[in-house]
Amino acid sequence: MDQIETYKQQIVDACRVLVERGYLMATGGNVSLRVADAERNSFAITPSNYDYAKMTPDDVCTLDLDLNLLTGQRTPSIESSLHATVYQTRPDVNAVVHTHQVYASALALIDAPIPALFDEQARFLGRSVEIIPYAPSGTGFLKKNIARRIKNHHNAYILQNHGVLCFGPSMEQAIHNVEILEKCALAYLLALCTERKVTKIPLAVREIAFNKLRQDQKKVERRDPCQEENR
Ligand SMILES: [Zn+2]
Repeated sequence: MDQIETYKQQIVDACRVLVERGYLMATGGNVSLRVADAERNSFAITPSNYDYAKMTPDDVCTLDLDLNLLTGQRTPSIESSLHATVYQTRPDVNAVVHTHQVYASALALIDAPIPALFDEQARFLGRSVEIIPYAPSGTGFLKKNIARRIKNHHNAYILQNHGVLCFGPSMEQAIHNVEILEKCALAYLLALCTERKVTKIPLAVREIAFNKLRQDQKKVERRDPCQEENR
């Protein structure tokens, strides 16, 4: 199996896991993986509007960061430009998962960003989970909103009236972050329902955890692309 085929297989496997765990539904959402060759300027992504249950590696597309189709017969995801923006803006990110997962999406409806509630949240997702203002799917407006917001090095964002965006240095870590986000979102929603004061972790603990995340990210940013190829 050549290198590109292994990326395509990883996309198919990731979608299967995300469907099984209830994070991807019907044809909603999309998943991508940076091709870690010397250039680091292309990525594999799910096709547009295609049933995850039927997806095979042949259905996955690869694109360069200017969105030229490199391989694949299907139309790439409508959100390809959003994924390209993430890879251009964040050299520490090698995998992007966009879902319409329910609990985190519910927080987007009431404009409730998630403060630092748990240690593992700060360690893997960042200081908070912010809400990126609404713009229609596939538009330059959404792309611009995202490019501006993701420079704070967080790994999870909620898209207003839409869904979520999670990143990781690997697909495994991006899926892990999707799961942490949904757990935090559900706990926060339940806490908000009580109308009692919601406590946060101490600021110092949040900063220590976030610094660890930044150190991990810097290691990925510095990594020799030739080593990446054997990842
Ligand atoms: Zn979407």
